[in-house]
Formats: sequence, C-alpha cells, structure tokens
Amino acid sequence: MTPGQHFIISWVTANTVKLDRKSRICITMSGLLPDLDGAGMIIDKINKYFGTHTGYYEQFHHVYCHNIFFGLSFAIIFCFICGKRISVFLLSLLTFHLHIICDMAGSSGPNGDLWTIPYFYPLLPDIHLTWSGQWELSSWINSLIGAIFFVLALIIARYRHVTFFELFSKRVEEVVYETGKGRGFFKF
Ligand SMILES: [Zn+2]
Repeated sequence: MTPGQHFIISWVTANTVKLDRKSRICITMSGLLPDLDGAGMIIDKINKYFGTHTGYYEQFHHVYCHNIFFGLSFAIIFCFICGKRISVFLLSLLTFHLHIICDMAGSSGPNGDLWTIPYFYPLLPDIHLTWSGQWELSSWINSLIGAIFFVLALIIARYRHVTFFELFSKRVEEVVYETGKGRGFFKF
C-alpha cells in the first residue's frame, strides 16, 4: 500500500485506545517507519538524473525495515519513550503488522510481480512471506480501504476532538481544531 494509506490506517489504530498525543504519534510512526527502506528510490532518481542506473529501491525495499526485528525494536523504544506503557508496545506491534499485511495484500506491480516480505531478516533471510492473491498497488481496493479509514478518522475527530494533523505539529492541529469548532464539526 502507499504511505498515505499506511498513515491513515495506523492513526485510526492508534486511536482504538484512549492515549495521549505522544503515544498516538509513536504508534502511528510504527506503521509508517517500515517504508524507510524505500528511500533508495530517491537515490535511484538522483542517479538517473546524472545518467547512472541503480536499483536500490528494488534491492532494499521490503527488506531492512519490513522484518519482525525492526518492528519489535521500535515497539520497545516507543514503549519506553511513552513511560513504559504496555498498550503502546502492543499497538505499535499491531500497526507494524498491519503494514506488513497490507503490503502483502495490495502491493503487486502493474505486470503482476508479487512483493515478498523477508519477515525474519536477517536471522532467516531465505524465508519470504507472500500471498498469491496480492492485488496491484494502484488498485481500487487500496483506495477503498484508504477511504474507509479516512471516514473512521473523521468520526474519531468528531467525537474525540483529535485529528491526524497532530502528527505534523501541535500548532497546525490547533488551527484545524478551531476551524472545525467554528463550523460546528465537533460533537460535544
Ligand atoms: Zn511497506
């Protein structure tokens, strides 16, 4: 799935339990950080601009950050950052695994190439998880799932008075909140 879809799914998951802003941000980040290993795309594009072909994106994406050890490490780090909250640890592991499941479900290429996930990398690098029913990254199914979670995010915002803008900055969220409040969006 795309980072935007991972973002909204992770933020909604972070709001399944009543937690503070820092905890919600950490849990959401656990569902976003796996795609750090896709940063090779930027280097590939820069190299292409200078006339060199590299394949860092294909080589590294879904490898270094899409494994249980990466997910577990950040779940532990975030648990400690948030005052040793077990709920942060568990929900961080959940958003990480939702990311893995969503990638296995809907990330195939336009010519049907299946992404595989070396879940136990680097301990057991040859074990790859995949699913033969994987649909395309650009499929309407991904868009529909993203839209459903966006609606859920709006419902959470309406009744809990928090919005996903909290990840960008507290100031931005305050502006969004005041605007929504002025238009009667929030339910009191
Ligand atoms: Zn991913």
